[in-house]
Amino acid sequence: MQGSVSYSSLLAWVCWKRGVYLGKVDYRYTSQICPNCGAHAGKKDLSEREHKFPECHYLINRDTAAAKVICHRGVTAAFADRRAN
Ligand SMILES: [Zn+2]
Repeated sequence: MQGSVSYSSLLAWVCWKRGVYLGKVDYRYTSQICPNCGAHAGKKDLSEREHKFPECHYLINRDTAAAKVICHRGVTAAFADRRAN
């Protein structure tokens, strides 16, 4: 049996094989930032499942908010890569 393969190297291989762009983003604070205006909500207990941002009155599930922040960072990084190449 072969040695273990890390998830990130397997993901990179699958994306390469499928011709899909793969970019890494900074994971820090993705669950604390408002995807609407960029305000910081601060750290919350895991039992708190929603963010309500007083800066822009945005109410969103915290996992959905984190996914939107990650998506935004990925799109921003992809366009920065395009401009550099
Ligand atoms: Zn906001």
